[in-house]
Amino acid sequence: MRRLLTVILLLFTVNHFMVACTPESDKLPEPEISYTPDYDNGEVIYINVKIAIDKKGWESRTPEFYKENLAQQWDQINIRFNVCDRKQQLQRRYIFKPDLEDIIVYEGCSYWGDNGADTKVVKRMDKQIFKLAVIYDFYYQGQEHGEYGGGCGDFDGIGTILVINASEAMKDKYNNHFDQYTYRAITHELGHFRGVIDLYTYVVEAKNNPVSHEGFMPWHCLMNDYCYTPDQESAWSDYAIKIFNKTGNTKRANLINGLLYEDFANKLDVSVTKDNQPINAALRLYPVHYGKVDVNPSFSYDVVDGKFTIPDMRALFFKNPDVLWDRYHLFLVEAVVDGTKQYSWLADYMLHNAGLDNEESYLLSFTFH
Ligand SMILES: [Zn+2]
Repeated sequence: MRRLLTVILLLFTVNHFMVACTPESDKLPEPEISYTPDYDNGEVIYINVKIAIDKKGWESRTPEFYKENLAQQWDQINIRFNVCDRKQQLQRRYIFKPDLEDIIVYEGCSYWGDNGADTKVVKRMDKQIFKLAVIYDFYYQGQEHGEYGGGCGDFDGIGTILVINASEAMKDKYNNHFDQYTYRAITHELGHFRGVIDLYTYVVEAKNNPVSHEGFMPWHCLMNDYCYTPDQESAWSDYAIKIFNKTGNTKRANLINGLLYEDFANKLDVSVTKDNQPINAALRLYPVHYGKVDVNPSFSYDVVDGKFTIPDMRALFFKNPDVLWDRYHLFLVEAVVDGTKQYSWLADYMLHNAGLDNEESYLLSFTFH
């Protein structure tokens, strides 16, 4: 999500934007602090969060300033994460516990890579205690290219969230990451940490659909249009909650895509009727790339006597099972009967959602009159 700031959690992309940074030696042995390890007792999931701050930012304010503001911000995050479960579907309440006693101060580049802040921070934290690091860059210094964020190494299931406003206007200025938007953005990133994809990337505007000229809006969610809205106007989607309940406090590499692949409803059943009678139809799947519907279908089928089944939807969506993020995300599905056309949308997350409901197949019905 990009807006006033760019906050990135990428458990699922790998080193897209490697930026050269100045190497830094490791220092500061961990002080002796006792931590409650992460737990899931059936009612509460408790997750330790390692906090890191850029050196220039750290030195521009007092430690007390950061402690107070971080404590307040993580209270806001914990409230938002839990209160946005509007239908009380979460099986456990979440407590994200920021470590304010041992904040890591890092030097140099905040972006990802061998000399990036994520590598430095993950190296310096106790990985038995911490599976999540939130890295704040209060002084964006411009070594990092562009306003877009970077990919992150896959630290065997350790999540890294970068809080940065990498816009030219904010270069070498103190960025207030304690405003009303940042805690909301971090909550969105925690949705990724617990296994949910971005839903806003599936939005299609009508003008970008040359096939049926209709737009598409995914489910309302903090992972979609509610990323930055006030708590009382925001909600997790049922889909996100299902994933949270399934994930619990699991941490593992490639969590998001792995979950999606494993729980995918693998069969698509298509039903076409006209005046309540099964009928032959032509079926076409138009892929959507970066919010635009392709005018050329990727797949075409003949529906005979009103029924058609695609038996292996994993093979259709995931082009390469070894690279799970490289897949189709969304299709516009067209059914044609006697020259009349009807449309439906088919997203990977819909098949995932059906799989989470233990459904082996997903049904698409077209009803002509
Ligand atoms: Zn996101």
